[in-house]
Amino acid sequence: MSRSLVLGIGLGACLLLIAAYVVSFKIDIIYSTGRYGTAFRLGRGCIGVMRPGFIDGWSYPSAPTGISRAVWWPYLGHPAAGVTLVMVPLWCPLILVMLVTAAWWRRGSRVPAGLCPKCTYDLTGNVSGVCPECGTPISTTT
Ligand SMILES: [Zn+2]
Repeated sequence: MSRSLVLGIGLGACLLLIAAYVVSFKIDIIYSTGRYGTAFRLGRGCIGVMRPGFIDGWSYPSAPTGISRAVWWPYLGHPAAGVTLVMVPLWCPLILVMLVTAAWWRRGSRVPAGLCPKCTYDLTGNVSGVCPECGTPISTTT
């Protein structure tokens, strides 16, 4: 994959996550696969998964969220008998996407051995210690 494509996907994913983060402080968005299924919830700065789902389909409960009610740390618990709730703050996937994108970007930007680190001119057989193309001093360790 090209670097610009990786960067585009990475930045796009970051923007989506940031947008979801902002939205999650204002409204709840819940999608449930059914009364005894699994509910996915965006709200309070988190992606949440709850089993069982209780409701069916999409719902937008007008829960007063706001940043003061944000859940900042991952949560795994049983708020009621037989109910399992997992909440993952959106900064977790956001940081993950940023790190992966940055790592990919750095890996792609590394100049292969034998090329000038500044202009990538092919230095094979060069013994002058200076890039003939741009004048950058070349380390003679290679
Ligand atoms: Zn050069």
